[in-house]
Amino acid sequence: MNQLPQKYPFLPTWCPGCGNFGIMNAIKMAIAKSGHPKEKFVIVYDIGCSGNMSDFLDMYGFHGLHGRALPPAAGIKLANHDLKVIVVIGDGGCYGEGATHFINLMRGNHDITVLVHDNHRYSLTTGQMSPTTDKGEATKSTPEGSIEEPLNPLALAISNHATFIAREFSGAIPQLSARIGEAISHEGFALIDMLQICSVYNPKQDLRWYREHTVSLEAEGHNSTDKAAAWTQAMREEKLPVGLFFKADRPAYHSQVSELQSGTLVNHNKSVVDMTTLLQDYR
Ligand code: SF4
Repeated sequence: MNQLPQKYPFLPTWCPGCGNFGIMNAIKMAIAKSGHPKEKFVIVYDIGCSGNMSDFLDMYGFHGLHGRALPPAAGIKLANHDLKVIVVIGDGGCYGEGATHFINLMRGNHDITVLVHDNHRYSLTTGQMSPTTDKGEATKSTPEGSIEEPLNPLALAISNHATFIAREFSGAIPQLSARIGEAISHEGFALIDMLQICSVYNPKQDLRWYREHTVSLEAEGHNSTDKAAAWTQAMREEKLPVGLFFKADRPAYHSQVSELQSGTLVNHNKSVVDMTTLLQDYR
């Protein structure tokens, strides 16, 4: 029997109704409109349903371990700061296993765009509660309802000096894509917490639920340069505000590293580096 040639990239294997379809299209549209060739981008993927996107996008990428996508992303940016670095990660990876990386990269204002697929579950591992699961929710790992209060990623980002902080919905693809484009253009740490539908392990928070429970920051006249106002919006519980919470200009980490002022690290001439003094310390 003749075998069909395997094509790359592969077709998505996500479940019908999954918000990851919309997010992937939003990312593709944002990159296409960015004005940069796609070879200038590197996407660092975490483990999870979102990370499976590495099989579906024909771009430079690196697939990290669970919660560990953030350090390689920062390292890639420092090795070649001409590149645009995007992280595709879930709420479990970014706000759970990778929370320390998340906090410290925000403090340093590392110039990476972090796109968090926040579906409030560990979905690839079949629906356990995650850091953003609402209190009282019955999940596979909390059959009697979760006991912990949910983590607030927007408040965490505001209080740890991220310079671009937004929340968008996976079902509003043009708006999400435009926001991803703004985050890519921003020089510094950019977080977009993306409310993502998981039709299998979190069916309650579906398209209708998000339409009823979200409110537009722009429509409310929110001032995204006002940090105190951003904090107030982040702490709201009766509705989930979507849009740009906060944006500030602060030098990015790589722009403050003296060794990088003469060009990218990958293009440094290693033959003129004198290691003699350093190596003497190890004799
Ligand atoms: Fe999407 Fe949920 Fe299916 Fe994973 S389990 S592919 S997040 S719908």
